[in-house]
Amino acid sequence: MIVSTQKPWEEILGYLEGENNIFILGCNGCAEASGSGGPTQVAEMQQKLKEAGKRVAGTMVIDFLCQKALVKSRLRPRTEQVAAADSILVMTCGLGVQAVAASVNKVCHPACDTINMGGSRGEWTGGERCLECGECLLEYTGGICPLTACTKSLLNGACGGASAGKCELDPDKDCGWELIYERLKQKNQLDKLRRFIPPKDYSKMMPSPKMMSTALWALEQTD
Ligand code: SF4
Ligand code: SF4
Repeated sequence: MIVSTQKPWEEILGYLEGENNIFILGCNGCAEASGSGGPTQVAEMQQKLKEAGKRVAGTMVIDFLCQKALVKSRLRPRTEQVAAADSILVMTCGLGVQAVAASVNKVCHPACDTINMGGSRGEWTGGERCLECGECLLEYTGGICPLTACTKSLLNGACGGASAGKCELDPDKDCGWELIYERLKQKNQLDKLRRFIPPKDYSKMMPSPKMMSTALWALEQTD
């Protein structure tokens, strides 16, 4: 299971500055189990956004937001609502936000941070990867994780070594920061590149002692 927690409300509200019409997307998989993005939290978020003076274009909870085919097929009947929205607030883990951002040509805001549970978090058939860094940066990178898409995990790319769109360290791999640039350009968000992303709190990339004392941790360590 991928464990996530909602970002502070002020941070979420800051992401939505200048936007008025928001579509909320929740996940009935790990985010529901985490209590960060299931039906209950989506309903609560809808109410909070309304109280903050925002319009909610629509809401939907999909079984697994990390499944791109599922996201596309479930959202199809809601195309008009999504098109009318300024953005989508995605209430799930880093994998889900990346999958939605890759599937829908709309600005996607992450509402959650993904919590580090240590070790390998299972095999994943999708191309997206999340290092469970505890402070999700997808808001600034068009929904592409710089820690996993860039071979050097640069927070402020690109390094300048890419050639013909390929990484200087791995010519078989697309340069993650060129992908981020193209994604931001596609979503008319190139201004995000002007923001310096400060060094992360890397202690959040280790399971916390508090988490390691929970029943969830014990369950996740069982084969
Ligand atoms: S920035 Fe990347 S590693 Fe960190 S939570 Fe988001 S997707 Fe995961
Ligand atoms: S070439 Fe691109 S992906 Fe490779 S290390 Fe440099 S910025 Fe990262």
